[in-house]
Amino acid sequence: MKKDQLFTRRRMLIAGAAVLGAAGAAGTARVLTAEPAARPASVPLGQGPQLRTALKPSAFRLQPMAGYGPPRHRPVKTAVRREPILQMSGSGRRMVLTFDDGPDPRYTPHILSTLREYDVRAMFFVCGEMAVDNKDLLREMADDGHIVGNHTWTHPQLTELSRSAIRREIERTCEVIDDAYGEPPAWFRAPYGAWNRNTFKIGAELGMEPLAWTVDSLDWTTPGTRTIVDRVEEGAAPGVVILSHDAGGDRSQSVRALREYLPHLLDSGYHITVPHRKFV
Ligand SMILES: [Zn+2]
Repeated sequence: MKKDQLFTRRRMLIAGAAVLGAAGAAGTARVLTAEPAARPASVPLGQGPQLRTALKPSAFRLQPMAGYGPPRHRPVKTAVRREPILQMSGSGRRMVLTFDDGPDPRYTPHILSTLREYDVRAMFFVCGEMAVDNKDLLREMADDGHIVGNHTWTHPQLTELSRSAIRREIERTCEVIDDAYGEPPAWFRAPYGAWNRNTFKIGAELGMEPLAWTVDSLDWTTPGTRTIVDRVEEGAAPGVVILSHDAGGDRSQSVRALREYLPHLLDSGYHITVPHRKFV
């Protein structure tokens, strides 16, 4: 019962989210727009951080942890795309923050706590081998209304793998997400942005849409917190999807950068949101 309440709350949170990739059908991705961010002259009122009121249903976490078995939900196949989605369509100053390669208990909790502080939802593209050891963090993501996507099990270059190896990487990760997060992922992202026909086909068979990004913060190169903040803020524009990382190395700069750019984006009138799958 607790779980049902949790999902209802999550759906309510997501109901207000933006619609991604309105074209929906197989075909072209949204074109990346490289225009500099247009900044508002003044900060709209009421756009700042809000107090978080809803608390977590902790009873859910006390349930015994079983091994992940067969998926409890049958995936609904999606159309096979030829390109990944790069940004959100639609109007409004909406942006999506995405964090890849985790969860990592050294960094992900800090990211989650900053997002919670500002009552913001984000996306986490997790690797199965990280998720299986950190299921509590996936449950926390579910409790907080974040979206968890599939980033393969071991983060390989999928374009160098056989069709069956690609499927194993992706399918197994779907299962652990289903088990820990409470439902299978609706989104996937190829490591290194290396997509091919098999990747799109298998993702679609497993009911996921391919999401890439518009702006790469390049935080994995550890260029310094200031540089990461600048890249995100200079790349900010309506519909933009930001790529950063909560694992895969020392991500303390990524953690600190989020604490800086998130309030700035909100003060600039951006609504940080998660995409809504229109065609599920
Ligand atoms: Zn990655």
